[in-house]
Amino acid sequence: MKPAHPDAAPPADAAARRAIRPVICYPVDALPPPDIVGYRAARDGWEQVGQVLVPPREARCFEVPAGHFFRIVGVDGPQVGDLNLWNAHDLGERFFSGKTRALHGTHLSTGDRMWSSLPHLRPMATITQDTLDWYGFDEWGGSVHDVIGTRCDPYTHRLLSGGDYHHCCHSNLTWALARHTARPPAEAEPDVHDVLNVFMCTGFTRDTGQYFMKASPVRAGDFLEFFAEIDLLGALSACPGGDCSAEHSSDTAACHPLRVDIFRPRAAPAGWVSPGRSGYGGISGRLA
Ligand SMILES: [Zn+2]
Repeated sequence: MKPAHPDAAPPADAAARRAIRPVICYPVDALPPPDIVGYRAARDGWEQVGQVLVPPREARCFEVPAGHFFRIVGVDGPQVGDLNLWNAHDLGERFFSGKTRALHGTHLSTGDRMWSSLPHLRPMATITQDTLDWYGFDEWGGSVHDVIGTRCDPYTHRLLSGGDYHHCCHSNLTWALARHTARPPAEAEPDVHDVLNVFMCTGFTRDTGQYFMKASPVRAGDFLEFFAEIDLLGALSACPGGDCSAEHSSDTAACHPLRVDIFRPRAAPAGWVSPGRSGYGGISGRLA
């Protein structure tokens, strides 16, 4: 947090230094834009092949083959979800929240991709529809579907409140993955990673740069739709924060289930091929 009264006096040219225009760190103009029209055309005649209901304050795993779609749907009322994605055949390749943020910005919507961890770095999923894309950024700089938070977890909760709470998203995701992979929770826990905060409305305060949340604009029937670029294992937690208007890491908030619907298109989108891993192979070839 920036101090209100910094120790260091500003230099004589402080205003000039501050006036330098920013440049985008990672311009994505060079990337081929996702063919959203083509993806959406592939939905014609699709068949729903799976459905997973995630109970409030719990998480569930689901699998989506490459070339299928899935939707995360609000069911009874405003509810935020924490999403993890893995390569279904290699849990070492998982969603890379930080690089996705660097590429696409703080909040994701239609046309953005969820990129995988190094050394793989390929699109795992492409967002093909977002019924909350009307929200944009509000007057506090808040928006939905962030990749700036992590996931609520019992360690931070204990650090800040001194208490223990066992249904944080981190715990829920850990238990869901443990059950799905038939491993003890302590073994599955290191595979849980920073999430896409589905439906959560968040930002950074302008004065102190602190992470904030506010009541999600999501309502029953809203959904976020993804196209699976590779075979995916997903885990979704229905956050104990509910709509995250007040607090998380407790049983205080009103919570609702979330649903994952999985669809198989009749044919793959025209011209689509499942992306390969990054072509860079030089990490051990350089002169140390
Ligand atoms: Zn949570």
